Amino acid sequence: MKCIYCGSEGPFDSEHILPRCLGTFEGERHLEDTVCQCCNNRLGNTVDLHFCRSGPEALFRSFLQIRGRKDHSRFSPYESGPAGPPAAEILLPYPGEDFPALWVLEPGTHNLHPMRQIVLKDKSGAWHPIPVRDRLRTDAALRAVVSAVMDGDPVQVHLLWEKGKDDWLPELVHKTFGFKTISAEKAEMESFSANAQIKLTVKPEYFRAIAKIAFNFLLQQTTIRGDEPEFAPIRDFIMNGGDIDRFVRQTSDVMIHIPPGMWFDRYGHVLSVARINRRVRAWVAFMVGPEFPGNKYHVELGGYPSPLILPRPQLCGNYYHYYETRSPGGLAGGIDVLTSSRIILPIGRPPLP
Ligand SMILES: [Zn+2]
Repeated sequence: MKCIYCGSEGPFDSEHILPRCLGTFEGERHLEDTVCQCCNNRLGNTVDLHFCRSGPEALFRSFLQIRGRKDHSRFSPYESGPAGPPAAEILLPYPGEDFPALWVLEPGTHNLHPMRQIVLKDKSGAWHPIPVRDRLRTDAALRAVVSAVMDGDPVQVHLLWEKGKDDWLPELVHKTFGFKTISAEKAEMESFSANAQIKLTVKPEYFRAIAKIAFNFLLQQTTIRGDEPEFAPIRDFIMNGGDIDRFVRQTSDVMIHIPPGMWFDRYGHVLSVARINRRVRAWVAFMVGPEFPGNKYHVELGGYPSPLILPRPQLCGNYYHYYETRSPGGLAGGIDVLTSSRIILPIGRPPLP
């Protein structure tokens, strides 16, 4: 047995199909003797981390209060480290004012709270809301953050802060820019509305994670081991990155046909692989649920190796659904096997280049 990525002879880790941050599913099988500990750690600290902390899945993880590993601290998708996955931004007008502000969706609810932030107006009249994190304690740090988003000094500043807790903040703004600030001590909650713009930024590691999940699912569902030459390009993309468009495409035009009653009452993920002509393609959808149609991707995994491995009609899929998302380290949900009568891929769609 050799690691499919580096060829080493182990020791091996048990490789989860979906990253642990999405929870644990009843009856799930992991990949054994496939990925060595070293490669697993390397991918976990880069690829998996970005999937779990940026993008729509991270927002929904927080909204649904999905718990990953027992020993992992709770995370906020609205926070980011200097070199880590980018933070999510929810932008809405501040009630009764003419400036926009950044909001945070309270886990498990539709309530939005304003972040602690500085909202700056530049010379052209554009507003720039900037979250205030604890490392922003000096005027040099504040100046550095502000100069990264706008030219020159601000012409107007608003602060959203909590009196008694963040009293250093107005002083800092005054010291840095000489403003007496207009403050809002505690903003009111806004119900989550369709007007909110949610800005999600992801780095290439996020797409490598999508590819890894799809590839893992192929290996779990078939007799493919993963080290076949047909899959050298996707392995290289997962491990080292490369041309995202060649492997991962976001899509909205894939049809799902699921019997009524089974589907939209709870959240889940769909992983499926299909043989299309002489290629193996995965179709994955994350966070399909009552209020979101799912975040869907095609993943081109590689050429179709012989002998035949996918069952007729050469498509298989699993639906990972949640029934309990808050139990720390415990079971989060179950797995339903999808068949071709339950999941339909479009016919006649040209293969991706
Ligand atoms: Zn390895």
